[in-house]
Amino acid sequence: MKYAILGKTDALSEQLKERIKTIMNKAIYDKQSPDIVFTIGGDGTALRAVNQYSYRLDKTVFLTINTGNLGFFTNFLPSDIKQIEKLLKEEIRKEYFSLIEYRVKTKEELFSGLALNEITISNPPKVSFLTVEIDNEHFESFKGTGLLVSTPIGSTAYNKSLGGAVIDPSLITLQLTEISSINSNSYKTLGSSLVICGSKKISIKGTAQSPYLFTADFLQRRINDLEEIEIKIAEQKVAIVKTDTKTFFDRVKKAFL
Ligand code: NAP
Ligand code: MN
Repeated sequence: MKYAILGKTDALSEQLKERIKTIMNKAIYDKQSPDIVFTIGGDGTALRAVNQYSYRLDKTVFLTINTGNLGFFTNFLPSDIKQIEKLLKEEIRKEYFSLIEYRVKTKEELFSGLALNEITISNPPKVSFLTVEIDNEHFESFKGTGLLVSTPIGSTAYNKSLGGAVIDPSLITLQLTEISSINSNSYKTLGSSLVICGSKKISIKGTAQSPYLFTADFLQRRINDLEEIEIKIAEQKVAIVKTDTKTFFDRVKKAFL
């Protein structure tokens, strides 16, 4: 088995990295094509690891150890190290999370990628005018700060802060959530977040000559002259090593209740 480790650099995280290297002593450290990636840190660390290995998600499983508070992608705690050692000798059980696949088209460029939590489009100092289509049919004309589309596992992140619903990640959905909409006669939005089936496609169109800030998880990019952002559930999924003890609802409870 080939492995890689990504993580924070605080004392506890460094100590855990050494411990994992000892446990994995017979395996090969391979940063380019690991079968298993250990992430040590928080949800942010796991997001960065998934982004880094997005070209081989079908061949890689992530084992996520949290050195901060228990997170949504981070399944294990440092005190679980004995359990991890045992588990690596057995057949690894995985849980799968869906990702967003986005394609951004502007007058000058075309780029695409994957997001595990969400994508957003906004231009915070200004009001943005955006048009939303669902499966190529006009849905709403948006005026306000911006729009966010999240995955189920991303529903507890920025989406939740905006008043979006928390979605059980065993469902495959896309959630469209507003960032400070302004409702008037000409621009009328739903006013609540909208959860749609993951087989549908959302398209967000911009108005020419407005600058926007596009984000995908922790990544950000300034764009000019937005034509269209196409958002759908990606074919690829993220595989994370499963634990028996912590369900999604345990995490929601621990994090928010
Ligand atoms: P960050 O600014 O360092 O931290 C964002 C916070 O969100 C951290 O506490 C992070 O946990 C947590 N988080 C990440 N994914 C989550 C999830 N699926 N469910 C619940 N909490 C989650 O940025 P980052 O660590 O690189 O994370 C990027 C994410 O930040 C974005 O994807 C976005 O969802 C979120 N964000 C939230 C707001 C907001 O709520 N107002 C604004 C901007 C961005 P850890 O501490 O364990 O890393
Ligand atoms: Mn973080």
